[in-house]
Amino acid sequence: MIIILKPEASQQDANEIMSLIESKHLKPLYLPGVERVVLGAIGDERVLGSLHLENHPMVEEVKQILAPYKLVSREMHHADSIVHIGNVPFGGGKFTMIAGPCAVESFDQLKAAALAVKAAGARCLRGGAYKPRSSPYSFQGLEVEGLKILFQVSKETGLPTVTEVVEVADVDIVAQYADAFQVGARNMQNFRLLKALGQSQKPVILKRGMAAKVEDLLLAAEYIVAEGNSNVILCERGIRTFETCTRNTLDLNAVPYVKEKSHLPVIVDPSHGTGVRDYVTPMALAAAACGADGLIVEVHPNPKVALSDGQQSLFPHQFATLMEKLQAIVNVVGKEMA
Ligand code: PEP
Ligand code: MN
Repeated sequence: MIIILKPEASQQDANEIMSLIESKHLKPLYLPGVERVVLGAIGDERVLGSLHLENHPMVEEVKQILAPYKLVSREMHHADSIVHIGNVPFGGGKFTMIAGPCAVESFDQLKAAALAVKAAGARCLRGGAYKPRSSPYSFQGLEVEGLKILFQVSKETGLPTVTEVVEVADVDIVAQYADAFQVGARNMQNFRLLKALGQSQKPVILKRGMAAKVEDLLLAAEYIVAEGNSNVILCERGIRTFETCTRNTLDLNAVPYVKEKSHLPVIVDPSHGTGVRDYVTPMALAAAACGADGLIVEVHPNPKVALSDGQQSLFPHQFATLMEKLQAIVNVVGKEMA
């Protein structure tokens, strides 16, 4: 439920109404806007009926939130949220690029990738230290050694980093070395992990599960925000469909839909979305055109020898060309390259 206060309502009025909400064992929220204050009540809203908040002289309107997700919905928070990874903004009219290899393989590999993507205009560096692979015989990641490499390369290049966390026990160590957590598609509904990340203040890139509906993605984000961490960036990375000519089907419909329903920034991963190097650039441009707030793209200094996802990783020169092409689309949609 949201309670819109009149412009002349004072802080005292807001406090009074929040105490009333608390007295019914619901969680009150204080959401100051430019013109007026909006209050929220999280929990079983039916118990609020008896308070007749609409009768309060400083209440303009009481509205039910119809979506099953509340905190991440635009009904609750009208303006776009801006989430920062390090000092790099996502959302609010910026278009922001994250790039780097699928996995951290060595210091030299990651440093070369970081320098190349930075020179082309990427603002954040990706690289998995823990790799949840479909096969147990595939490269599983360098784990803590990979995190240390990520940290060192970040220090030397100034690029903030994003890396996947696969279990609750690793949250602290990942937070120690990286600037943002990535929750992978396979873990989107690992609710224990989502809750643990909600207790951190580090930003979380939440990837859509490969068999998850958009509503499931928004509810997964709600788990993180409800624990107190509102720094969530949603990521469309393709879903499994009956179509097998590409690794996944990149559901770009999800982008305008999520932008309408939620205030959270939305980025697209055209690398996993297609699984094919030659399709990454066209789908990256399409993602920018349909309203994404940025991209996460796999780039490897030498994809031919990559230990994971080489077939979908761009060569550095292809990434530089992509960045040039993106500029035109970003201008057309009225955004600004971060
Ligand atoms: C990745 O980013 O390398 C990755 C494993 O992504 P996803 O979880 O989307 O498959
Ligand atoms: Mn990958």
